[in-house]
Amino acid sequence: MTIDRLIAGFKSFRKTYYEEQPDFFRSLVEKGQRPDVMVIACSDSRVDPSVVAKAEPGELFIVRNVANLVPPYEPDGRHHGTSAAIEFAVRELKVGHIIVMGHSHCGGIRCLCEGREDTENREFVDDWMRIVEQARDDCSEGEAHLRHVEREAVKLSMANLLGFPWVKRRVENGRLELHGWWFDLEAGELLAHEAGDNWKTLTG
Ligand SMILES: [Zn+2]
Repeated sequence: MTIDRLIAGFKSFRKTYYEEQPDFFRSLVEKGQRPDVMVIACSDSRVDPSVVAKAEPGELFIVRNVANLVPPYEPDGRHHGTSAAIEFAVRELKVGHIIVMGHSHCGGIRCLCEGREDTENREFVDDWMRIVEQARDDCSEGEAHLRHVEREAVKLSMANLLGFPWVKRRVENGRLELHGWWFDLEAGELLAHEAGDNWKTLTG
């Protein structure tokens, strides 16, 4: 049933972008993609950046992973999927913006803060979440603290972005802007990090 729904969805997509606008993908193929924005978002099924921001094909270059983390800059020859996507976006596509988009009720952050008893089912998640374990240090207990850690993790990922020398260079010469966002699922609000612990709403 789910798969049938997706196939029907693709048919509707094809009608919109191929039948009604025959030049749309032809141009994206001939000219190639030129997204101005990269988004680093969580794999969580509720926070698809294209859906949330109503983006069109070709607008957003997206990498999604557990808890929208940016790992530290580690050019050590190992398999760094997120870093590879950042490199491609910045050095190849020359995006002008990178948005790290966190969200409330993040399962990855919950694992980091609470889930230490179920570790036999996790070969990868716990090590991955260690990237932002510093955010957990602030964390005592309860939902409000999880919300806090979710936002702290966005800030740590932004700091890690600046550890990539070619990201830092472009930020310094004004060719690249970094944004930390946090999507509040309950309130339907989007907050942007300003400075320190200040977050401002983007929805007015
Ligand atoms: Zn998440």
